[in-house]
Amino acid sequence: MSFEEYQRQAAEWTSQFTPQYWEPHHILAQMQEELGEIARILNRVYGPKPPKEGEQLRDLGGELCDLVFAVVCMANRESIDLSEAWQQSMDRKTRRDRERFNRKD
Ligand SMILES: [Mg+2]
Repeated sequence: MSFEEYQRQAAEWTSQFTPQYWEPHHILAQMQEELGEIARILNRVYGPKPPKEGEQLRDLGGELCDLVFAVVCMANRESIDLSEAWQQSMDRKTRRDRERFNRKD
């Protein structure tokens, strides 16, 4: 799926609710909540905090998608074309980081 499809699908799904999108700072809080869920998984898998006995770890892919959904909702609410913004971001990274990282030979 493309960003355009993500944005269309999120718009279609959220159109059944009112308000369709939360206020930006509420969406930001949701992003932080999802990021925390991702951090919890990574900390359990790679960090110093092993899962508690019987603790069921959530699915990392699912939590990443929850975060992407919040990002897409923010973009939709703010009328941002993510395909266009992505390309601008990649162009900027390409220019800015040309000499920054070790390249494969
Ligand atoms: Mg989640």
